Amino acid sequence: MHRYTDETEQLAQSILRYTRDRLRLDPVPLDGPKTPAELRALAGETINADGMGGEAALRLFETVLAPACISVDHPRYLSFIPAAPTEAAFLFDLVVGASSIYGGSWLEGSGAVFAENDALRYVADLVGLPAAAGGVFVSGGTQGNLSALVAARHTARIERAARGEAPPARWKVAATAETHSSIKTACAVMDVEFVGVETDHEGRLRGEALSAALDEAGDGVFAVVATAGTTNFGIVDRLDEIGDVCSERGIWFHVDGAYGGAGLCAPSVRHRFAGIERCDSFIVDPHKWLFAPFDCCALLYRNPELARAAHSQSAGYLDVINDQSDWNPSDYAVNLSRRARGLPFWFSLATHGTRAYTDAVEHTLSVARAAAEEIRSRTYVELMHEPDLSVVVFRRLGWTHEQYLDWSDRLMKANFAFVMPSAHDGETITRFAIINPRTTLGDIQMILDTMA
Ligand SMILES: *Cc1c(COP(=O)(O)O)cnc(C)c1O
Repeated sequence: MHRYTDETEQLAQSILRYTRDRLRLDPVPLDGPKTPAELRALAGETINADGMGGEAALRLFETVLAPACISVDHPRYLSFIPAAPTEAAFLFDLVVGASSIYGGSWLEGSGAVFAENDALRYVADLVGLPAAAGGVFVSGGTQGNLSALVAARHTARIERAARGEAPPARWKVAATAETHSSIKTACAVMDVEFVGVETDHEGRLRGEALSAALDEAGDGVFAVVATAGTTNFGIVDRLDEIGDVCSERGIWFHVDGAYGGAGLCAPSVRHRFAGIERCDSFIVDPHKWLFAPFDCCALLYRNPELARAAHSQSAGYLDVINDQSDWNPSDYAVNLSRRARGLPFWFSLATHGTRAYTDAVEHTLSVARAAAEEIRSRTYVELMHEPDLSVVVFRRLGWTHEQYLDWSDRLMKANFAFVMPSAHDGETITRFAIINPRTTLGDIQMILDTMA
């Protein structure tokens, strides 16, 4: 198993051939899910004592397993938040896999960590964070939000103890109902209370409502989570006002930009993020709108020392690493062993330059604006919100929940598009999340035609 034989050479050729073919497909097949029984019937027993050989296993993947996975980079995959990695990022993912890099410590992965830190610096500059800012690439927004909140509570604990105050009866996090589900999950994991704050009529968290909610919540709120691009509507909270409230009250200001943070590189929407430079921590998922493969979330702290104090693991076998003053990525999140998962993103940035990112994000924004215009021009659909970013939410007038489901199912089974219904205030609606530069207005028009 650990020798490079003629058979390995042949397998290498086959895998590179598969990779090249997959990258060349335009468009990629949409594909769709199968049941466990269907897959078992098609795949048979995949693992036995003797092994089937690499060629057969690859063929099984190519003919049975891959077609049962929806291609998230299909130009008409517009549900949830899609993904659209660049060719360079895709290819470099192979290199990362082949390089056996341990990305947790400087000692073991300095070259990789150096490059990841350059990519993190690009993000920190978009946010406007100071030179001392830093962080780590974690697996996703869920992990990023949790890690940021753990650092925030640890900091609050220390500050309170330094003031000679007893801990509060309950630690609390304030955010709105539009906040991503992962914030509530983080609260559950940390056993802290979620304090819901009302949004304004546009669905935005504002300073006044936040102040009122904090007054009412009383003691123990250690963090406010603002969203820079909600998942359902793409709405950006009023970060300037929230920053004011947080600094007046000495509360940690976390910004969840998992989806929308990519908009920071686009001049046409940059003003919506005013005030973001005051955050204490920030996340963006390059695996969403910054064209990196899964799994990749950039987590940044204004003051990484606070995060290190919260996250650094200690044990006899780690002393040799902790005694150094090196930058160890595992010190900045709930993680130890880690893939250098920021490298495909770094490689693509290094290859194409940041201007190409700005252009690509601006392009998707212009398609989103054109999609909104197209919806306005058709009588049977109704735009629900002027897009802040690249999510376009609308309703099909007169449709029941079942009609949305039937329509969505039909589009997927026809290998044509993946557009799922969503919900808002108990109403079934649907949305286009446009982050793929290959998605055209023509794609949008064809999908809208199927709703007539
Ligand atoms: C997608 C998303 C998350 C969760 O990110 P994962 O990478 O899926 O864990 C968190 N917040 C927002 C706003 C998101 O859009």
